[in-house]
Amino acid sequence: MEARVETEFRSDIEYKTLLDKFKTVLKKEGLRFTKQREVILNGLYSVDTHLTSEELYQLLKSNNPKSNIGIATVYRTLSLLERGELVTTLLTDNTKKYELSAKEHHDHIICTDCGKIIEFVSPDIERLQESVAEELGFKILDHSMQIYGICKDCRK
Ligand SMILES: [Zn+2]
Ligand SMILES: [Zn+2]
Repeated sequence: MEARVETEFRSDIEYKTLLDKFKTVLKKEGLRFTKQREVILNGLYSVDTHLTSEELYQLLKSNNPKSNIGIATVYRTLSLLERGELVTTLLTDNTKKYELSAKEHHDHIICTDCGKIIEFVSPDIERLQESVAEELGFKILDHSMQIYGICKDCRK
């Protein structure tokens, strides 16, 4: 069975819904909704890809040259989003990358040389996980899989 690859996986959440969820998370943590926090959420939503906090920070700075968002605010807001389960993380080269968790389920294969990330879903793997869990008496709530390797370009 073929694996479905990349670019097809988009966030299927409306920005307004995401914003409402974000406000709920902030409230739970006893934090205020601020313009800066919103700019961070919006930046993440508009790129819809895997980013390190540093990459997100650079992107926000170039898109909003007048705003004075600090990298510390980006860090804090991302961990807030992670605790609220609005973003998921994956590790490449010991760096955390963030993406919106509203995306359709997919797994990742990551090149440890150039950092390239390919998203895929393999129906075979999905099914096998189900049967492993069943064999071990588990009901799967969630799973994440990262395969690490060297990509085609880097192997040349
Ligand atoms: Zn590579
Ligand atoms: Zn992904």
